[in-house]
Amino acid sequence: MHDHETLPMVPIRSASGAWLVDYDGKRYLDAISSWWVNLFGHAHPRLDAALREQIGRLEHVILAGFTHQPAIELAERLVAIAPKGLTRVQYADNGSSAVEIALKLAFHHCRNRGDAQRTKFVALAGGYHGETLGALSVTDIPLYRETYAPLLLTPLTAPSPDTTAAQPGETALDVAVRAADALDALLAEHGDSVCALIIEPLVQCAAGMRMHDAEYLRRARAACDRHRVLLIADEIAVGFGRTGTMFACAQAGIAPDLMCLSKGLSGGYLPLSAVLATEAVYQSFYDEYTKLRAFLHSHSYTGNALGCRVALEVLNIFRDEPVLARNHALAQHLATTLAPLRHHAQVRHLRQTGMIAAFDLVDADGRAFAWSERRGLRVVRHGLERGVLLRPLGSTVYFMPPYCITPDEIEFMVEVAREGIAHAVS
Ligand SMILES: *Cc1c(COP(=O)(O)O)cnc(C)c1O
Repeated sequence: MHDHETLPMVPIRSASGAWLVDYDGKRYLDAISSWWVNLFGHAHPRLDAALREQIGRLEHVILAGFTHQPAIELAERLVAIAPKGLTRVQYADNGSSAVEIALKLAFHHCRNRGDAQRTKFVALAGGYHGETLGALSVTDIPLYRETYAPLLLTPLTAPSPDTTAAQPGETALDVAVRAADALDALLAEHGDSVCALIIEPLVQCAAGMRMHDAEYLRRARAACDRHRVLLIADEIAVGFGRTGTMFACAQAGIAPDLMCLSKGLSGGYLPLSAVLATEAVYQSFYDEYTKLRAFLHSHSYTGNALGCRVALEVLNIFRDEPVLARNHALAQHLATTLAPLRHHAQVRHLRQTGMIAAFDLVDADGRAFAWSERRGLRVVRHGLERGVLLRPLGSTVYFMPPYCITPDEIEFMVEVAREGIAHAVS
């Protein structure tokens, strides 16, 4: 609220496609998909229609002892497109809750198989998994974590495979191998006290769009298998075509034991999340309700019918339209448009994975700005003036637009960001 004394809030009256419209009729290009949730644009005709059809039929019903068609069909359709081996679905209503469920399932699964001493989680440096206490425990971003540290579980932290941390002469693959070796050493040391490793596959988004080579995921999967540790893939931000494949894990050809989905799951319409699990995890819980083997976890709005119906329509769009091929072409255009920035004196680490692109701002001597300098805020301000919603993470400027963005809009978005650099570094 303090900061909004000088950076007024922008009340939005309506939105359509990639554009938000305020009460003065001013338009803003939503370059960050309203915090990474939107896939196909705002007020999408098919998603609107699906929701209208569901309203008036069934808005919500208790999902204990009762079920409904959109929940059943969505679970079946998610299993059909998920990495092989994920056969079971537990719903919740936001990303953090999905992470809480995955953490509880991982610990409880180990307990069920007679490994109750496995009480630790391994998380990556710079990881982000949400801001409820369990999810925050496995988050390694000081801005969110520091204040609450006394309340949190203490996970083991493995190095990030972040490619921007490469030593001189090191490739992305070298960094991935080095980080995976460190993970394996950590698991060798603590393995029988660890129940799960949680990771954001391919892109650590909140850390500042830190990207890594898919080889890391293959090696992390192998290390987890060696040490009997479950692998939790948090695909909340990178799922649903964002990285170029339906799920990021596919680029490594691996399947996790648990996979968290939210954000794009409902196309950016309604709070909904799901945790997918393997048959082995599911079966270890199969028991009478009152036995401590069974998994008890519910939220009031678990499996909300409106959310499930709109999520089904998201999957229908993926089925009926060449979304991934279109994204591939858009990502190419984004890469071409961004390429000249590679030579900008105050831009470092220009990087891209599918429909996510980012670069870091540096000072005239090539040094990173401190987070506290808040250089990104100047980019925000300039973007708002020019009609583009940009929201840098520290001094990392990134683009994560809805898939309906046009080549012209990509050029406009990048041009405004480029102007923003001048304001930010001066
Ligand atoms: C956003 C996000 C979450 C948390 O989801 P919420 O719905 O905001 O609670 C968890 N993990 C990742 C990778 C995310 O990007």
